[in-house]
Amino acid sequence: MQNFELYNPTNLVFGKGQIAKLKELVPQNAKVLLAYGGGSIFKNGIYDQVIKALTGFEIVEFGGIEPNPRYETLMKAVTVIKEKKLDFILAVGGGSVIDGVKFIAAAVHFDGNPMEILHKRMQIKANAMPFGTVLTLPATGSEMNSGAVVTINETQEKLSFGGSALFPKFSICDPTVIASLPKKQIQNGVIDAFTHVLEQYLTFKQDAYLQDRIAEGILHTLIEVGPKVVDNPTDYALASNYMWSCTMALNGLIQKGVSTDWATHMIGHELTALYEIDHARTLAIIAPNLYKVMFATKKEKLAQFGERIFGLQGDTETVAKQAIEKMTDFFHTMGMQTKLSENTANYQDTANFIVKRFDERGWKGLGEKQNITLEKVREIVELSY
Ligand code: NAP
Ligand code: FE
Repeated sequence: MQNFELYNPTNLVFGKGQIAKLKELVPQNAKVLLAYGGGSIFKNGIYDQVIKALTGFEIVEFGGIEPNPRYETLMKAVTVIKEKKLDFILAVGGGSVIDGVKFIAAAVHFDGNPMEILHKRMQIKANAMPFGTVLTLPATGSEMNSGAVVTINETQEKLSFGGSALFPKFSICDPTVIASLPKKQIQNGVIDAFTHVLEQYLTFKQDAYLQDRIAEGILHTLIEVGPKVVDNPTDYALASNYMWSCTMALNGLIQKGVSTDWATHMIGHELTALYEIDHARTLAIIAPNLYKVMFATKKEKLAQFGERIFGLQGDTETVAKQAIEKMTDFFHTMGMQTKLSENTANYQDTANFIVKRFDERGWKGLGEKQNITLEKVREIVELSY
């Protein structure tokens, strides 16, 4: 196991009825920017709960943060915060609103052009505006981590950034909010979380026994509850276990002491930037092909995944190969279409485009061993057609 530091200051407040706790969690006398997305919170009662809990606070509302939040929109929020001299942000939404708020929090006090935060993939360690979240869509783990992904409309780039100043001060996770989610978004949430675990777990063998077991626990739970929660989102046992699994998948715990991959996410972000394919769906397209192309590096761990998660038995090569098939079957069970051509008609030039972009950014070796070269990226994307 490698040396590590574990720092996670987010106060996670989990359970039914917890949105009412906002009045204690938001700092007294705070002037709050209430940031939200396309308006789902007005239809499902979450806005009403938030406003009730914040009675007495000075609030300025900022809506319209889109799925895959746009730099251009977020900069408008930065202007509002400066004009109205606000000092706290409350994100009410899914990963897009929360990620967007992380960018706003970083940009408000940024000395320079905030676009640099994205282009230089900066680590923001100080001077961010404090913010809290009310999570409405379990998926990304953004409610308990310090990373975010923002899209620049003008250049169609989807870029990540983060830093220790970008942990939410608190996040309220009330599993009853999922009742109003479209089935498609629940499917996405399960698969995003599942792939977060894979990116931290399906590497080479790293003698991190506990991290492996925690990762496997999350994978087992997502396989157990995922298909059921899509059809029964008001079942509290299913909803709460789904929600907690998503948070645990990317709150930093299972990546401690190990080298992680993240190439599936990096390639997937390009598919969203190019074709607006939902984030999770891009991961389901890329992940199985990445594991096929990187089989030599990852086969021991793939075999462990096959044995422990799917109960497969046999020699390493066979079990590892079958494990990739089982993973793909699970993606299909969760409503994913795992070929790029099933998600967009104009896929033919995708590999060239992505390889060129990665090359321009100097991303010549991805993955836990930096051995996912541009040629491997090409192979992975072409296999995904
Ligand atoms: P999302 O983009 O936040 O939301 C998707 C849709 O679901 C929106 O249309 C939203 O509507 C709707 N929605 C949310 N909550 C709802 C509810 N309770 N009832 C009904 N509709 C609801 O989806 P997401 O999957 O959570 O976030 C995806 C983004 O997160 C991507 O940009 C991805 O790259 C990023 N991401 C971040 C991390 C990280 O660690 N920070 C990790 C993985 C992915 P409204 O807009 O109307 O609310
Ligand atoms: Fe993700």
